[in-house]
Amino acid sequence: MKETPVPRVVTCRTCGKPVAWIPENTYRPFCSERCRSIDLGAWAAEEYRVPEQSKPLPDEQ
Ligand SMILES: [Zn+2]
Repeated sequence: MKETPVPRVVTCRTCGKPVAWIPENTYRPFCSERCRSIDLGAWAAEEYRVPEQSKPLPDEQ
């Protein structure tokens, strides 16, 4: 009886490809650096979408 370690497989959040959750995969939970940048870019875009009118007015008199 031989035990084979089965890596946990997750789904790439960007493209939906199965990604093995292994230490060698530095881009997990993404399949590649490209997918990781796409997701981080989308996240950053959401963060920067701040309503302009909520900003305090500059103190110009
Ligand atoms: Zn991907």
